[in-house]
Amino acid sequence: MLEKILEKIKEYQTIVIHRHMRPDPDALGSQVGLQRVLQKNFPEKTVKITGYTEPNLAWLAQMEAVADEDYQGALVIVTDTANQARIDDKRYDQGDFLIKIDHHPNDEVYGDLSWVNTSASSCSEMIAQLAFDMGLELDADIAYLLYAGIIGDTGRFLYPATSAKTFEIVAKLRQYEFDFAGLSRQMESVDYSVAKLIGYVYDHLEVDENGAARVLLSQNLLRKFGIGDADTSFIVGVPGRVNTVKSWGIFVEQPDGSYRVRLRSKFLPINEIAKRHHGGGHPLASGANSYSIEENEQIYQELKQVAADASE
Ligand code: AMP
Repeated sequence: MLEKILEKIKEYQTIVIHRHMRPDPDALGSQVGLQRVLQKNFPEKTVKITGYTEPNLAWLAQMEAVADEDYQGALVIVTDTANQARIDDKRYDQGDFLIKIDHHPNDEVYGDLSWVNTSASSCSEMIAQLAFDMGLELDADIAYLLYAGIIGDTGRFLYPATSAKTFEIVAKLRQYEFDFAGLSRQMESVDYSVAKLIGYVYDHLEVDENGAARVLLSQNLLRKFGIGDADTSFIVGVPGRVNTVKSWGIFVEQPDGSYRVRLRSKFLPINEIAKRHHGGGHPLASGANSYSIEENEQIYQELKQVAADASE
């Protein structure tokens, strides 16, 4: 598979790389890490990245302007994105050939060529593997991007998707001279307003007898704390620090009155719940969308049921 991907890369003069909406460090690390690898190893090619520049992560990567004409006869690669609806920048199908590179469950097969490895900790790990196995050159900036993606998706090696392979790849990335400690600190740092919201989450977390937990963040509350939807990524792991909590949902009200539901779990798969509510994702880290208070309640009941079934 890696050879086939490299063949396609060699075949095309212009390559445009996409990733999912609401980008996280792994989406950006894999997208921009791949761009930099290709620019370094194939300097004669034009390699572009597109999508929304997430202000919280602008320190990691910023997007570029890609013209409609750039897609003519181009290779398009989409990283870290399970389904087409979540691809940022809908022009992904305007190229000549489409490659999907991802580590989410392959619920929606798309692309002319697809490399999906659900046992990879992150898509950045896959891009690093592609580069190392294919003998491509890296540098410190590329190692920085890929390392950021890996620590983002593994919660700095906390989550079970962290494998021996992850550490092998990280050991190789660490040989490049990038600001390793500074990056880890940057990924952990939060604004004081977010720190206060973390306090709110601990104060208002509802936990049932089997460890199913939830917290609701209304628009009013987010306004009061001066926080946007994207900042909730900093608090998504917070309930998991409580030892009695096993699975949890953070219900974030959106300006249109719907809810983004961020589901996480320590051991019990919860992605089927996400799939039933306009979402999907990994077994232990998924996202859903809810369109009413009643649907929020339903999602929490399903979360409680999963926890109850496991406690029997
Ligand atoms: P998040 O809570 O946004 O960090 O999402 C956790 C995981 O679930 C990520 O791997 C996302 O790609 C995935 N995910 C989130 N929302 C959705 C959605 N609406 N549809 C499919 N996958 C999603």
